[in-house]
Amino acid sequence: MEERYWQKEIETAPREQIEAWQSERLIDTVKRVYENVPYYRDMMDKAGVKPEDIKSRDDIVKLPFTCKQDLRDTYPYGLFAVPLKDVVRLHASSGTTGKQIVVGYTKHDLEIWDDCTARQLVATGADENSVVHVSYGYGLFTGGLGLHGGAQHIGATTVPVSSGNTQRQLTIMQDFGSTVLCCTPSYAMFLAETAEKQGIPKENFKLKAGIFGAEPWTEEMRHEIEKRLGLEAFDVYGLTEIIGPGVSYGCHAHDGMHVNEDHFIIEIINPETGEPVKEGEQGEIVFSCITKEAFPILRYRTRDIGYVKYEKCSCGRTFARMSKPMGRTDDMLIIRGVNVFPSQIETVLIKMGYLPNYQIIVDTKDNLDTLAVKVEMGEQHFDDVVKEINRRESELAGELKSLLGVNAKVILCAPNSIERSEGKAKRVVDNRKK
Ligand code: ADP
Ligand code: ZN
Repeated sequence: MEERYWQKEIETAPREQIEAWQSERLIDTVKRVYENVPYYRDMMDKAGVKPEDIKSRDDIVKLPFTCKQDLRDTYPYGLFAVPLKDVVRLHASSGTTGKQIVVGYTKHDLEIWDDCTARQLVATGADENSVVHVSYGYGLFTGGLGLHGGAQHIGATTVPVSSGNTQRQLTIMQDFGSTVLCCTPSYAMFLAETAEKQGIPKENFKLKAGIFGAEPWTEEMRHEIEKRLGLEAFDVYGLTEIIGPGVSYGCHAHDGMHVNEDHFIIEIINPETGEPVKEGEQGEIVFSCITKEAFPILRYRTRDIGYVKYEKCSCGRTFARMSKPMGRTDDMLIIRGVNVFPSQIETVLIKMGYLPNYQIIVDTKDNLDTLAVKVEMGEQHFDDVVKEINRRESELAGELKSLLGVNAKVILCAPNSIERSEGKAKRVVDNRKK
């Protein structure tokens, strides 16, 4: 299939060109925030760095980091670099981790955002003939309006369903002939399950592509969704603080997500020392916005863990590719000293033939951490005798132990007994955090 691009000259630009854009735009942004945002000026003054010290993109390491706490300290508008009269839209984080934060967009910022999600859509093969079904939540959460903007931008027929009401989603997908589905991967899985339960064959859908993100998911789960919904599933990444979905986007190569490097600079750092790590090495992902007017955050520590590579992709794009983040540092569970990400548990479950309907329960007993994993059985296992269920539980526990190095109590439970999410799935219940 011929590869399609939204902005070919940019998406396939030579690396020197991308770096030149980054240098020029970073220099400009640093000047702008120094002049317009007292909070940044203070931070830079304290770090002993002046706008003149930033002469190219490589000088970015001289700038101080920003983190979620800076957004909270300046809540609501303290980091805005333009007057509120120039801000045409506000969004806020869904508050998965703590107090919400707010970000703003000028008209130009929204245009940039539309381009970012348009690039994702076109990379999946979407065009003006597509019917783009957006089941990410609309509202302050960036998911819905983010993909919505890109879909309209490419001239696709945009269906702003928003999240919830699964029955209606399935009816609309069939009646309106949706060809691209945008939602969280856990919700895509739930849509597939519900369709199967109702005996709706996947041939009733015209889906070609799925754009799934906003939460960690595994490659195993991607294949599972593809099989069940009969589409090609693409990973999309973003966060409210940077712009929303479309900070980076998946392509047909499915080997990392292309960072929109003409708008954002990505760095990977050692989360303990703050020093950059080598290319390909895992660390904390840091982003700087270099074209945004209202909320041009610099060196923002995402707490997402991943790596980046710069070699040209088989799709022809030259933008760096970041790995699927395996989770946030704050999602990482430390169980008796062993680091475990929920996504690693998910990989094991799918490999062993279970669907990713699970819950991880962490607790303490006699001052020691305990880990329990509740996993739904498939309908085909539900009739099994207790002995067989016990065998399956210890088999899974053995697999978790050998792959992750932790002891986990596995509890197999009835199909549909774990609550489904219409947005981001809540996989972990940590009773230790009291
Ligand atoms: P909140 O911070 O309230 O959850 P956001 O929508 O801003 O709201 O969440 C952004 C976060 O979601 C990212 O920092 C990352 O942890 C996660 N995320 C987004 N897209 C992906 C993806 N494709 N894979 C894994 N995690 C993702
Ligand atoms: Zn690619």
